[in-house]
Amino acid sequence: MAPWFAISRSEVGKNGRVDLIRCFGCGGLFPKIEGPTHRYMASSTGCWATYGEVLARQYTNANYAGAGQLTIDAYAVQHPGRPSAQSIQSVALHLISLCLLLERGVELGTATEGISAAAKDKRRFAWLAPPETMGPITVANVHAARTAAEHVAIVRSWASSAWSAWAAHHVTVRDGWRSSGVACV
Ligand SMILES: [Zn+2]
Repeated sequence: MAPWFAISRSEVGKNGRVDLIRCFGCGGLFPKIEGPTHRYMASSTGCWATYGEVLARQYTNANYAGAGQLTIDAYAVQHPGRPSAQSIQSVALHLISLCLLLERGVELGTATEGISAAAKDKRRFAWLAPPETMGPITVANVHAARTAAEHVAIVRSWASSAWSAWAAHHVTVRDGWRSSGVACV
């Protein structure tokens, strides 16, 4: 997998180098910068900024179609944060989405319906202890893609590896999905 190399930002220091730090969420290496992070998808500031750039790239170019939902799902499950009502629901619904899209191969519209159906009964979701490692691919690898085709391919691999990282909870996710009444089993 491509290393982090696509750095062309204002964070480059006087010596021409960028300090990279490891994101405590996904484990990827990102520029050490000042900046905001998400309220409950806990990450380093550089990781959050990189995710924003990846989303911007996808939203402004139709060649990235097909990467959108998988990107959002993969990022969310790699950054579960701490137990809270919002983080529990976020991780559960994005794992359900990955299950639908990757294991069942459903169309995006069907996955969206499945997530909506599952979201109607949030009380059955519980905090799932996050895996120790989140898989070898992070949003840094997606950011480093040089073409739209490469970007979309890396997003698919990223989503698969993020889903695999949560293997200890696959049965829980599948059961949760089943009981949501989504007719795709
Ligand atoms: Zn991260």
